[in-house]
Amino acid sequence: MTSKPVPPTPLLSEKHNGIPTRLFDKAQETKSGILNIATKSESERTKVALPQGINQTTFRVAIAELCDRLGEEHVEFVTKLDDGWYMENPNTHDGMHISDDSDFVASVVVYPGSTEEVQTVVQWANAYRIPISPISIGRNYGYGGAAPRVRGAVVLDLGRRMNRILDINPDDCTCLVEPGVTYFALYEEIQARGFQHLWIDVPDIGGGSVLGNALDRGVGYTPYGDHWMMHCGMEVVLPTGEVIRTGMGALPGNNSWQLFPYGFGPTADGIFSQSNMGVVTKMGFGLMPNPGDHESYLYTFPKDKDLSQLIDIIRPLRIAMILENVAQLRHVSMQVGLEGKPRSSYYKGKGRIPDSFIHEAAQNLSHGDCSWLYYGMSYGPKEIRQYKLDIIHKEFMKIPGARRIDPASLPADDYFWVRDRIASGVPDIEELRWVNWHPNGGHIAFSPVSPVRGNDATALWDIARKRCDEYDLDFFPTFVVGLREMHLIVEIVFNRDDPVMRNNARACLRGMIDDAAQRGYGEYRTHLAFMDQIAGTYNWNNGALLKFNEKIKDCLDPNGIMAPGKSGIWPARYRGRGWEMSASDESSEGKGVNPNPGTVRL
Ligand code: ADP
Repeated sequence: MTSKPVPPTPLLSEKHNGIPTRLFDKAQETKSGILNIATKSESERTKVALPQGINQTTFRVAIAELCDRLGEEHVEFVTKLDDGWYMENPNTHDGMHISDDSDFVASVVVYPGSTEEVQTVVQWANAYRIPISPISIGRNYGYGGAAPRVRGAVVLDLGRRMNRILDINPDDCTCLVEPGVTYFALYEEIQARGFQHLWIDVPDIGGGSVLGNALDRGVGYTPYGDHWMMHCGMEVVLPTGEVIRTGMGALPGNNSWQLFPYGFGPTADGIFSQSNMGVVTKMGFGLMPNPGDHESYLYTFPKDKDLSQLIDIIRPLRIAMILENVAQLRHVSMQVGLEGKPRSSYYKGKGRIPDSFIHEAAQNLSHGDCSWLYYGMSYGPKEIRQYKLDIIHKEFMKIPGARRIDPASLPADDYFWVRDRIASGVPDIEELRWVNWHPNGGHIAFSPVSPVRGNDATALWDIARKRCDEYDLDFFPTFVVGLREMHLIVEIVFNRDDPVMRNNARACLRGMIDDAAQRGYGEYRTHLAFMDQIAGTYNWNNGALLKFNEKIKDCLDPNGIMAPGKSGIWPARYRGRGWEMSASDESSEGKGVNPNPGTVRL
């Protein structure tokens, strides 16, 4: 295969969302892998996507006013859609679009430079009743990326100009960041300031926003892996333009904003997570103290059916923190995908790739063939680690055929060391490689939450496998074990340029969501296209929770301008007009908006 030229990936020193120099070569290699099999080109947009409820003339007047107030250079019309790739992600639409690329598309992208400018944009949006949709970095891949739920909304790209690390406190082990601070940026800054006694917690890839990821309740892999849990203190611009600080931040002159999350009275923070109730402009976090020493370990288990016994072994060890970090139990298919080669290099037939081909490919991996891999880490001095590692070894080896892989036998570029870095707070970029399973690879995830129990793991595995068989799709499952629950993340990779495969992937995910809900499992997070369906599954007591969220929404956002439809929460202006997406109505648009805001029910 002839290699296409690979233009350089922007560096962190050049761009707020760039790649650290230490990872430049790896980024180039990843990008080259993507470009070499890409066939889809960018598409021009001759017409800007207007949001419903406003005519072309008024929209142009409104945008001209926004240009006056913010500066023309900070307002851009969306005139082309380039899917880019992770490190050069679009802020106009979903770079991993699961339907047509122009389904969830912005009309204009605006770049506020301060909390005051965010207030300006919010007040402007209210004046013209134009929907706005905040992003921090826009790399929420698998869940909609930078795309707004409502076509033609104005995307607020906060990251480009609001990307300062406002504080790193080396004594209290805390930080305060603006939306555009990536894990890469925070990590590099901590090293540059000589604070090696501080760790951050990073997701599988480090290009996301620390603030944005926590808002969407993402996870990482140190003991601080629940990002929402580790946040402390927020500054939020409300949908009507007022600014609040939560927790101790509400007390002028206090010095505990990043130390005590609750302050006094009801804790408001929750309504700003996975929601459309405000634009978060600052957020604090606890940072983990460097435990001094750490040690990664990897166990493999031979059979798919070992899952049940293994999960039952994991539960008590995890709750007791013998298994210390948010660990990953990955299926071997994910490891084969990580080789970064297209599926066609393993199998050319139709339907889900037969297990035997995965196992054959796995024989060439450093850990050899198996079905499951447990990547964990133990922290602290040797004698403390050893006490826990001995228990883990004894328990894991109860499964016939289990093997502990000796790290010393693994080369320096083995994926094991990527997990080693991630579980010790060093952001990386390797995880992306399985996206090349198909040319123009995109991915979406089935992400149900369940108890850490063997029969639950098996039930979810069966659901995923059955639906993937039905829709001729391969699947890459990983169990991410929190303290008392686990998320199963089933990644489905599809070709963004293949409408049939995209339709299958959507139908497959919709089927999994319904099957899971019938058995009592709900998703922890999802792509824009499935938010209505999933919100509909959380329907105890006749949908009481969604009704409550709608009440808050109508109260805080009477004109319904803030990210309408995010998490299935539609403002009154949009409700009852068919905006919800479902298996029987995949259109992302509804029949207009209530033209008379005076009739908005409060
Ligand atoms: P990342 O690049 O870190 O993965 P995004 O910037 O895409 O994250 O943010 C993830 C999601 O969180 C967005 O789709 C949006 O719904 C929400 N979000 C991100 N930043 C903000 C913010 N500053 N205020 C409110 N919501 C936000």
